[in-house]
Amino acid sequence: MTGVDKRVRLGRFAERGSYEFTTIAAILDEAMLCHVGVSAEDGTVVLPTIHARIGRYVYVHGSPVAKWMRALRSVPLCLTATIVDGIVLARSAFNHSLNYRSAVVIGTADHVDDVAERRAALEALVEYICPGRWNDTRQPTASEIEATGVLRVNLDVASAKVRTGPPVEFAGDRDAPHWAGVIPLALHRGRPLRDPPARDAGELPPYLDRVRSCANLCLPEYG
Ligand SMILES: Cc1cc2nc3c(=O)[nH]c(=O)nc-3n(C[C@H](O)[C@H](O)[C@H](O)COP(=O)(O)OP(=O)(O)OC[C@H]3O[C@@H](n4cnc5c(N)ncnc54)[C@H](O)[C@@H]3O)c2cc1C
Repeated sequence: MTGVDKRVRLGRFAERGSYEFTTIAAILDEAMLCHVGVSAEDGTVVLPTIHARIGRYVYVHGSPVAKWMRALRSVPLCLTATIVDGIVLARSAFNHSLNYRSAVVIGTADHVDDVAERRAALEALVEYICPGRWNDTRQPTASEIEATGVLRVNLDVASAKVRTGPPVEFAGDRDAPHWAGVIPLALHRGRPLRDPPARDAGELPPYLDRVRSCANLCLPEYG
């Protein structure tokens, strides 16, 4: 395929791939976490972390002394985000699969030194895990912002891959006497559980009330 950076050119099932910014951005925006892969001084690590996208950049944060954060000063990274949508049960063991949407971003990370951008990234990260939350927090002090490493990766070299639909069977397996189909999977927010030491026993704030109204998991209260 012309025009696609060879680092993100899909090989297998290339028809499931996309290089469209909107597709990649939508996956990054929905995936709850990403994994960052980097070659550190004593080996390669792939670590899970929270991310947030602002425009054509994805931000991650962490302790500036974390090995992966330090490693990313000088070497390329690969950031992946995955949403699993279903378990695909084929008649043959061979053709079992998952339905998914995944994004891969390849590049180098910029350490964000600008305080305003770093603060905006931290706000995006908090809002990402809980929309509406930033304005209901004690805001970070200058020293807390200083103590947080923030990395920015642009989305210029990125790919998406999406599998949907039923199992793909070999012709000879279609009449085999085994149940086949898809078990849908989704990540849901549960009912908010109050931190026991909380002094204010008032109502849930409206942004959490919205979470509660969508929750379909019944989790126990803390003992
Ligand atoms: C939840 C999940 C489970 C999977 N399970 C398996 C499995 O068990 N076995 C298996 O072989 N494959 C599995 N895959 C697919 C796997 O991610 C690769 O796409 C595939 O193994 C190899 O593709 P390739 O040869 O094109 O990759 P490569 O040639 O190694 O990759 C080239 C480039 O293609 C792009 N690319 C490749 N895969 C993806 C992707 N998934 N999403 C976005 N961009 C991608 C990247 O930019 C990458 O740099 C799974 C994917 C997901 C999301």
